[in-house]
Amino acid sequence: MKYIFGNWKMKLSPQDEMTLARKLSGLSFDQQRVIVTICPTFASLIPVAQSIKNLPIALGAQDCFYEDSGAFTGEISPYALKHIGCEYVIIGHSERRQYLGETDAIINKKVHAAINNMLIPVLCVGETKDQRESGSKDHIVRRQVELALEKVKIIEGSALFIAYEPVWAIGTGNPASIPEITYMHNVIYQTMIDVLSVSVASHNTHILYGGSVDETNTGELLKEEMIHGVLVGGASVKYEEFKKMVEIATAF
Ligand code: PEP
Repeated sequence: MKYIFGNWKMKLSPQDEMTLARKLSGLSFDQQRVIVTICPTFASLIPVAQSIKNLPIALGAQDCFYEDSGAFTGEISPYALKHIGCEYVIIGHSERRQYLGETDAIINKKVHAAINNMLIPVLCVGETKDQRESGSKDHIVRRQVELALEKVKIIEGSALFIAYEPVWAIGTGNPASIPEITYMHNVIYQTMIDVLSVSVASHNTHILYGGSVDETNTGELLKEEMIHGVLVGGASVKYEEFKKMVEIATAF
C-alpha cells in the first residue's frame, strides 16, 4: 500500500478549493494499492467533506489544537475535526514550527489530542539546510520524533504517520535524493523502535517523504520499499499533476 497526502496549505481561495474538490471525482486508482488523502484549509473542510463523501478519498486537516474545547480563540479542536469527517491531521509542519513558533512540546500535546480523538497524526519532522550542513541532521530529526512521541501509545488497529520533510526541500523544486531520504527514513524508523516498540514501529507506523514531490519524481520515490508514501504540497493543488501522481502510485 502506498499513501498520497495532498497538503493544500493556504494556496487556494475557498472557491478554487471547491473547484479542485469537485474535479477529484476524475481520479482513477486502485484503492487496494493507494490511499489518497486531501488536506484543505479549515474554512473549506465541511464543503469539501460533502463534495468527496462518495469518493474513495480521505479527508485530513492541516493542524489542530491540543484541547477539545474551551476559551482558545481562533483554534480548532481535534474533536471538531473528527466530527467534520477528518481521518488524519498534519501536526508539526515546518511552516508552523517556523512561522508560528510551534515547539516540540506543543507538537507532543497535539499528537496526544489527535490520538485521543481517534485522528491519525501525520507528524512532520525534518532538518533545515544549516542543520544538515553542520552535521546535526540525525540528532535533530531523532529529537523531533522522540519529543513529539513522548508518552504516546499507538493502540492496536490505530496508526501513526511520520513525514520526513527536510525544510530545505519544501517548496524549492529541490527534493532530497533517494539515498538521503532512505537514510533519514531509517533514522526515523530506528527512533520509533526505541520510542514505541519494534512491533508498533513495524505494524502501525508509516514513513512518508515530503519536499518538492511532483509527477516527475513520484515513481522513483514510491519504488523504494522504505518510502511508504508522499506528502505533497504545491503539486497537490494542480489537478492534472495530482491525477498523474495518483495514477503512478497505483503501479506500486
Ligand atoms: C508540504 O507542504 O508538506 C510540502 C512538502 O510542500 P511541497 O510539496 O510544495 O514542497
